[in-house]
Amino acid sequence: MGAGSERGRDDGEDDDSDDSDGAEAGGRGGGAAEDDGENCPLCGYFNSPAAGDTCDHLRAWVWDDVIEGSPVYDEFAAAWSDFSDLASSAEDVAEFADNALGLAESMALPDALVAYSHWENSPLDVFVELAGAAVGEGWTMSGPLGGSGYCVYLESDERANAATDGYRALLAAIDPGR
Ligand SMILES: [Zn+2]
Repeated sequence: MGAGSERGRDDGEDDDSDDSDGAEAGGRGGGAAEDDGENCPLCGYFNSPAAGDTCDHLRAWVWDDVIEGSPVYDEFAAAWSDFSDLASSAEDVAEFADNALGLAESMALPDALVAYSHWENSPLDVFVELAGAAVGEGWTMSGPLGGSGYCVYLESDERANAATDGYRALLAAIDPGR
């Protein structure tokens, strides 16, 4: 008797509503069933970019490989992509790199600008390297609107803007007609 009446009560995934470990960081968020964000590695603020709730350090948000950039990131990515396109379309890539390195040196720009121009991964990786950005630990959401993501953070835009300006300066020197 009563065989089917008690099934299915134990499959809650990590619903720890009657655990008391909300005492440290989890207690303040107010009811999200799942984390929809991550803590800023610089200030510790819980960033939830989908809800538009972020700290001042966030510069780009990656969700399922789509990058939602801040203006600082977007400017950098555009300049880097232009330079990278020019580099990869050169007839002799090694010669292009040599010339670009010589130019960078004469313009007192860092070698790294040229060194990273051949990267074929995301400009975000180059941004992280050149701007010295911090990368969040990421989070995952399940369900129909689920996915996974992370954010990239900067304390100051100085290095990012310097890299953007550097790429623009190199582009102008190599190909003044652009
Ligand atoms: Zn922050």
